[in-house]
Amino acid sequence: MAIQANSVNEMYQELSKKLSKIVPSAELKIKAELAFEINKLKKEKGAIILGHNYMEAALFLAVPDIIGDSLELSRKAAEAKANIIIFCGVRFMAETAKILNPSRTVLLPATKAGCSLASSITADDVRELKQKYPGVPVITYINTYADVKAECDICCTSGNAHRVVKHYQGQPVIFLPDQYLASNVANEVGRNIKITKRSGEVLELGPNDMLGWDGKCEVHEQFTVNDIVQIRKQFPEVSVIAHPECSPEVVAASDYSSSTSAMTKFVREGHAKHYLILTECSMADNIIAENPDKDILRLCSIRCPHMNEITLESVYRSLTENYQEIHVPEDIASRAKLSLERMLAI
Ligand code: 13P
Ligand code: SF4
Repeated sequence: MAIQANSVNEMYQELSKKLSKIVPSAELKIKAELAFEINKLKKEKGAIILGHNYMEAALFLAVPDIIGDSLELSRKAAEAKANIIIFCGVRFMAETAKILNPSRTVLLPATKAGCSLASSITADDVRELKQKYPGVPVITYINTYADVKAECDICCTSGNAHRVVKHYQGQPVIFLPDQYLASNVANEVGRNIKITKRSGEVLELGPNDMLGWDGKCEVHEQFTVNDIVQIRKQFPEVSVIAHPECSPEVVAASDYSSSTSAMTKFVREGHAKHYLILTECSMADNIIAENPDKDILRLCSIRCPHMNEITLESVYRSLTENYQEIHVPEDIASRAKLSLERMLAI
């Protein structure tokens, strides 16, 4: 729930309480002014703002009505009654909101806001896979564009991937496009993982096999086992939490791995002496702001460049100029919606 402030000064005071150690005060003053204006305009226009856990700290605290991971935001987007949904996240998330709630105007406050996973696979790639592996259910991570979702049987997120895969017990599945998430889920549910790529040879698939694609998240692939080893040397009692888009080696060397919201909850409810957060660095800021009494470590240079396109300035532009309306062609949207609804039903 966004900060409720009656003046710019009150907004500044509220942000300072949480962020004075993270954001310089001169910057916070400008952000407080913008956030105050956004909240005023949002009410006047009857808009709702959804914010992914990776939003920068001032925006994250000050303007979204609902915050969460991809799964939570999909559910909320499907239920949203407001005429205008402003999606502070990346393009595939805003597209998902539009598919689930087509009668609303969905705005993405960015020109591109892509994702290295979403751009690693095309609808043609999925069609080729279905020809090569007829009858094998195709699961796609939600980090894909609508035309890819439209070709798949069901979607999943990092928060429910293991449940979706278990749904297909006793038969092989194709899991697209994140090879690391696929490997981590396979390890979790006890399946064998094989990885393919565009124009790859046909592999034999047994009932316990999972076929992954060679996509990776450009942020999470940067974390290494050596990062964890070095931190554990300095902080032997550290609890290491890693997003499942990290490599299976990094996840194996960590103490906990799950979706961004589950990671946040783990710190909120935990009692470790220190936490090392292995996901993009703004989320670590947000966890620090929420847990001022806990010692949170992070590798602060690793920021998602696509999430970083969403700023208070660009959200203000969305409210004043309808920047940038998301459209999904009807024939694609209706098929992609089926994949999303099957996921939400599980
Ligand atoms: P979550 O579903 O865990 O929020 O992850 C989304 C994402 O893009 C992580 O990089
Ligand atoms: Fe995509 Fe990775 Fe950015 Fe998430 S962190 S939006 S998976 S590039």
